[in-house]
Amino acid sequence: MMDTDLFVAWFEESARLIRRERDRLTRLDAAIGDADHGTNLDRGFSEVCKALADDPPGSAAEVLTTAGVTLIRRVGGAAGPLYGSVFRQMGRALPESPVTLAGFAAAFEEGVVAVERLGKAALGDKTMVDALAPASRALSLAVRDGVGVRRAVEQAAHAAREGAKSTIPMQAKRGRASYLGPRSIGHEDPGAASAALLLEALASVVE
Ligand code: ADP
Ligand code: MG
Repeated sequence: MMDTDLFVAWFEESARLIRRERDRLTRLDAAIGDADHGTNLDRGFSEVCKALADDPPGSAAEVLTTAGVTLIRRVGGAAGPLYGSVFRQMGRALPESPVTLAGFAAAFEEGVVAVERLGKAALGDKTMVDALAPASRALSLAVRDGVGVRRAVEQAAHAAREGAKSTIPMQAKRGRASYLGPRSIGHEDPGAASAALLLEALASVVE
């Protein structure tokens, strides 16, 4: 249902959207962080594409593991290792290809748990978790309701976008933005914004 090529296409499209939105992500990080989120991820995801092209993966799990390890090794800042852990854990949890929606949803959930654990972040802390966790929940609900892959990832992308917007009134509890205390209120979290882009990329390659 979701084959190796689809996962490669997901990272290529993610890299493309991150490049396109790089300056917006960096501006968001300039407001409540250190203005490097767009450049960090742009570099990281182009490294991922390069790694996938240099050493073509044989399974969906391998795509995710390669992406995860590359992001952990090559990206500075908090978000690289955090996203890297999400994908590495998803790769570990993913069943053999072809991957079903149920298998993907379960692996996605494990990826979110990994970032929550590593970042000690929960829903409402104004981090990437505020976009990733609602996306994961949307995928699980889609599986429960027997929704098809295409509709499921659209719902996940929508949930991630809403989740990213929901970070605007939040006060940051984790990461660099938390040093600002109440002054972090009123800005969208850059990591939540980039997480929404990753889900948008997935929805667009599943189309
Ligand atoms: P840095 O903060 O080191 O400059 P980036 O700017 O690349 O790294 O990424 C910042 C984003 O990382 C934040 O917007 C937030 O979404 C995410 N983040 C930071 N710390 C944590 C954490 N402890 N748990 C979850 N996400 C985090
Ligand atoms: Mg930063």
